[in-house]
Amino acid sequence: MQPNGAVAFVFLFIYIGVDTLLRQTRSTGKISQGNALRPGSNENKDIMKVIVLGGGVVGVTTAYQLQKDGHEVVIIERQPVVAGETSWGNAGMVAPGHSFVWSSPKAPMTLLKSLVLKDQALRFRFSADPRLYSWSWLFLMECTAEKARRNTLLKHRLAAYSQKILQDVIAEDPVDYDRNVRGILYFHRSQEALDRGVAHMKLLESDGQLITVLDRNQVVELDPSLAAAKDKIAGAIHCPTDETGDSAKFTRALAEKILARGGTILTDTTINGFETSGQDVTGIATSKGLIKGDAYVLALGSYSPVLSRQIGVNLPIYPIKGYSLTIPIEGQPSPPNVAAVDEHNLVAVSRFGDRIRVTATAEFAGFDTSHKPSDFAFMKRVTQELYPAGGNYDRAEMWAGLRPMTPTNLPFFGRKKYRNLYLNTGHGHIGWTMSHGSARITADLIAGRTPAIPMDGLLVD
Ligand SMILES: Cc1cc2nc3c(=O)[nH]c(=O)nc-3n(C[C@H](O)[C@H](O)[C@H](O)COP(=O)(O)OP(=O)(O)OC[C@H]3O[C@@H](n4cnc5c(N)ncnc54)[C@H](O)[C@@H]3O)c2cc1C
Repeated sequence: MQPNGAVAFVFLFIYIGVDTLLRQTRSTGKISQGNALRPGSNENKDIMKVIVLGGGVVGVTTAYQLQKDGHEVVIIERQPVVAGETSWGNAGMVAPGHSFVWSSPKAPMTLLKSLVLKDQALRFRFSADPRLYSWSWLFLMECTAEKARRNTLLKHRLAAYSQKILQDVIAEDPVDYDRNVRGILYFHRSQEALDRGVAHMKLLESDGQLITVLDRNQVVELDPSLAAAKDKIAGAIHCPTDETGDSAKFTRALAEKILARGGTILTDTTINGFETSGQDVTGIATSKGLIKGDAYVLALGSYSPVLSRQIGVNLPIYPIKGYSLTIPIEGQPSPPNVAAVDEHNLVAVSRFGDRIRVTATAEFAGFDTSHKPSDFAFMKRVTQELYPAGGNYDRAEMWAGLRPMTPTNLPFFGRKKYRNLYLNTGHGHIGWTMSHGSARITADLIAGRTPAIPMDGLLVD
């Protein structure tokens, strides 16, 4: 698009944004801080049958925590296995150090630039879907410095809490998921960018995030596999307490534990809608019939609003597509040892045992998860330059998935309109990181307990 076309687009965008926002606010009300149906007002605090909608990392960790509280759990999942969609191909970073929200003051210009320049990291595509524009408008409303700061701190608190719950879970119930606890390197290619990154990181540091600033020699000392790229790196912020692990392997192992303890996982089962009566959900209509429980948890990732809007629960969650490569190491001598994010190219690299996982790109493509080799050319080239002897790049497995993004980049918890329908959805770009804490919070809300972290700004009404 030419620059004057971009200006026309901005006016069109603002017009459509205001219009759709007004329509959405009129028809649905606004997501806000409070909660009209207070958590804990559920009179039935006894053991319940809880139906969890969605078998991604969020649904499965929720079922695990609910089962721990003594509830009977049923997970409904349309794929033949759990973690078959977004939770399969992510970068595996459990990264409170990566809690910065995307809705920042820089985001509007980045979005605009992506229309004019061919940006590899961000790809905005026009669409006939009005929800793209209403969501984008709400997203832009979150892009002030004050809101970005507030949302980042809320997200960091949830991410740090979640990492603690993950550590509790694996201490009590060991899971093999190719965990790597050598921290994450957030590296920059120029001294100016590194200085800006360090200044930016002060916000998370003020909230307890441990960081160490490394020059290029120290980066290579920490991970010698980056030696070939030493001259391209100015330095890095190392978050030593961030970690990585394969979220699909973890989710599937946890699902086995749930089954072994008497839980039910209905795979190959598509949810078509809800049965309701007054303020209660009374059943879930699926391809295998009606499934009834006492309480229900909505954990369908990007598809949560598609289903919930049928019963008047409107959630501003929009899919943002990302791509990943899984590269077998196959005897190559210098695979990455420490997970890294190339902050210039926005490419993330993790090591899962004998594989490397590389992820990149934020693309507005609706619910389209298709991909072609050219979508991966840039991220593959960047990774190969960084780790030339890191893996067998010719045998890389390609994948694309949808981040369930909210305008604030914070997930939704609590209840909206129905007394026994709990939300745990909209975990965006660090949903694996936030899943364990989100699961505990949801189990606490269902039990009528006060969650361990303050919920201001995280509950819907
Ligand atoms: C490229 C990329 C890189 C990422 N990297 C990281 C990272 O490094 N660290 C991190 O923390 N997070 C990362 N994420 C984000 C993370 O993967 C997601 O936030 C997380 O997986 C969301 O989990 P979920 O359970 O909410 O959604 P999903 O995994 O999508 O689970 C929802 C489930 O609901 C099922 N479902 C949907 N509709 C229906 C229906 N009608 N009937 C039955 N079942 C249905 C789906 O099949 C799916 O299994 C990344 C995401 C992407 C795309």
